[in-house]
Amino acid sequence: MSRKIDVVKNVLEANDEMALNNRVLLEQCGCLALNITSAPGSGKTTLLEKTIVDLNPMRSGVIVGDLQTARDAERVAHIAAAVVQINTEGGCHLSASQVAAALEKLDIRNANLDFIFIENVGNMVCPSDFDLGEHYRVAMLSTPEGDDKVAKYNTMFQPADVILLNKIDLSVMLHFDVSCVRDDLSKINTRAPLIELSAQTGEGMQQWLDWLQNAKANLGSGK
Ligand code: MG
Repeated sequence: MSRKIDVVKNVLEANDEMALNNRVLLEQCGCLALNITSAPGSGKTTLLEKTIVDLNPMRSGVIVGDLQTARDAERVAHIAAAVVQINTEGGCHLSASQVAAALEKLDIRNANLDFIFIENVGNMVCPSDFDLGEHYRVAMLSTPEGDDKVAKYNTMFQPADVILLNKIDLSVMLHFDVSCVRDDLSKINTRAPLIELSAQTGEGMQQWLDWLQNAKANLGSGK
C-alpha cells in the first residue's frame, strides 16, 4: 500500500473513532444529532430557522460549519438555545474532531437539548466520507440546482437517511422533474424517504417535522 493511501486511511479511521465517541456521548445525553449536507445555497440555514421555531427552540442546538464568516450562525443564534460556529478556514467539510470540540463548547452534558443540527459546509462531495457522530445523515437538494444532481453527486445521496427536496414551490417555473430524482434515487438509495418541501412557504414542512419527532422517539433503538 502506498504511503499516501495509508495516510488517507488513517485519517478516516481516526475520524470514525472520534465520530463513534460523539455518537455515544450524544446518546447518553438523549440528544438526536443530524448532519445536514447539501450544495451552497440550497437552503440549509433557512430550513434550520423554520425547523427550530416549529420544534422547541429551547431544546435545539446548532453547529454551523462554514469556510468563512459567521453569517449562518448569526441567523440561527436568536432562535436556537445554543449555537457554535466552526470556521474551517477553507476546509471543504466538517470532521468528527471539530464536532467533538463544538459539543464540548455547547456543554452538551448539561445543555438539556433534544436535537443537535449540524449544518455541514456547503459542498456535495467532500462531507460524504466523514461521519461526524450524527444519528442521521440528511441530504438536501433544491430545485434550482437541477433534477439531474442525484445521479451526478450520488456519493452525497447514497448514505443519506432522509432526502429533502427544497424549494419545491419553484419546481413548475424551473421545469424541475421530481420523477427524475425519484428514478435516480431508486438506483442508489431506496431506504431514505424523499420529502418534498419548501422551507420558505412551509409546504411539506410537517412531514419533515414528523420525521424528526419520530427519529427522536426512536433514539437509542436504531443506528
Ligand atoms: Mg447556510
